[in-house]
Amino acid sequence: MTVSRTYDVAVIGGGVVGLAIARGLAGQGRRIAILDEGDVARRASRGNFALVWVQSKGLGMARYGAWTTGSAALWPGFAAALREETGLDLGLSQPGGYSLCLSEAELDARRAAMMRMHNQPGWEPVPWEVHDHARIARAMPALGPEVVGGVFCPLDGHVNSLRLFRALHASATARGATYLPDHPVREIAALAGGGFRITTAQAPIEAARIVLAAGLGNAALAPMVGLAAPVRPQRGQVMVTEKTAPFLAYPMATLRQTDEGGVMIGDSKEEAPEDEAVGPGVLAAMARRAIRMFPLLGGLNIVRSWGALRVMSPDGFPIYDQSETAPGAFLVTCHSGVTLAAAHSDVLAPMIARGALDMSVAAFSARRFDVPSPA
Ligand SMILES: Cc1cc2nc3c(=O)[nH]c(=O)nc-3n(C[C@H](O)[C@H](O)[C@H](O)COP(=O)(O)OP(=O)(O)OC[C@H]3O[C@@H](n4cnc5c(N)ncnc54)[C@H](O)[C@@H]3O)c2cc1C
Repeated sequence: MTVSRTYDVAVIGGGVVGLAIARGLAGQGRRIAILDEGDVARRASRGNFALVWVQSKGLGMARYGAWTTGSAALWPGFAAALREETGLDLGLSQPGGYSLCLSEAELDARRAAMMRMHNQPGWEPVPWEVHDHARIARAMPALGPEVVGGVFCPLDGHVNSLRLFRALHASATARGATYLPDHPVREIAALAGGGFRITTAQAPIEAARIVLAAGLGNAALAPMVGLAAPVRPQRGQVMVTEKTAPFLAYPMATLRQTDEGGVMIGDSKEEAPEDEAVGPGVLAAMARRAIRMFPLLGGLNIVRSWGALRVMSPDGFPIYDQSETAPGAFLVTCHSGVTLAAAHSDVLAPMIARGALDMSVAAFSARRFDVPSPA
């Protein structure tokens, strides 16, 4: 006979999203399990660009802009708490960030998109400015002559995202959560008297509540508990140079110098990818653009490149949901899991612990994708 193990909450998925939620749920005597796949799993959490980014977030959904800004504001306290709990310095830096433009047409389009976003009904103001070449060059003298200007937002920043991943894991387990690798979930059944029975590759698990935080895996799991997670993969390729003396004072949308000295160049947006492979065509295009922005990059060696799959919803915004047919089942997915880690841990997890999502996150329900069929 197989004996099932019982928890208060089973979080399915051990990427940055699942770990941030598990960390926020753990403690106060709650028994939390994190069910994850093995080492071969595809994880956006291991391949991202590590921006804590505000400036481009929210065109099409004002609430997402405010949610992102709120998370960025929580980040300093969040990083300090993780450091205290785990001893890991996440290298958080929030000096503001740039989206650089290589032509007047690019800059006009960027400015227009920012204005459209800021003119939306319900938009909570976020500071931003257009800076010309001279102003950016004063802050970053290595700037190439082709950069005509850029959009600056003082709330933008970046972090060491692999250390974030490790710190979330260490913090969640230190708070008492049980991490169960090699537990790919195959089936979830809502029990008649409440709670869930989860079939994994190992012995089954029972939990009073579940949180689906399995990234792209949520698409298959959500319908098992009356939820929908219409997420698709979108590949991003990234490369990193050898370490060099600091010359990038600010992170940029596609370029940043890490706290260890390497320069990350990113990140493509490729639809319908078959896998996480990198291709020389995409990498070369990204490198050419980066060198036009900062010509000295042309003298640095690329030491590593990789591809990873973003977890994209149809409109690009997060999906946070709770099941109507299987009470106690929650869904959390997004494509900015680094930026939103603080909000997931400190704001969303407490809602799940209380048993219901607040109205403040109702805009993120997947019900926004339900459209009446034509008569
Ligand atoms: C190229 C690139 C650049 C990015 N840049 C940024 C950035 O600058 N800033 C930012 O905020 N975000 C960025 N992101 C997004 C960020 O990385 C993701 O939002 C985040 O990693 C998603 O985390 P996740 O935990 O949902 O998914 P994942 O990291 O994919 O993790 C999902 C986990 O669920 C597990 N799983 C799947 N199915 C099952 C199952 N059936 N049973 C058990 N476990 C399962 C997997 O094994 C995995 O561990 C970027 C992403 C990419 C790809």
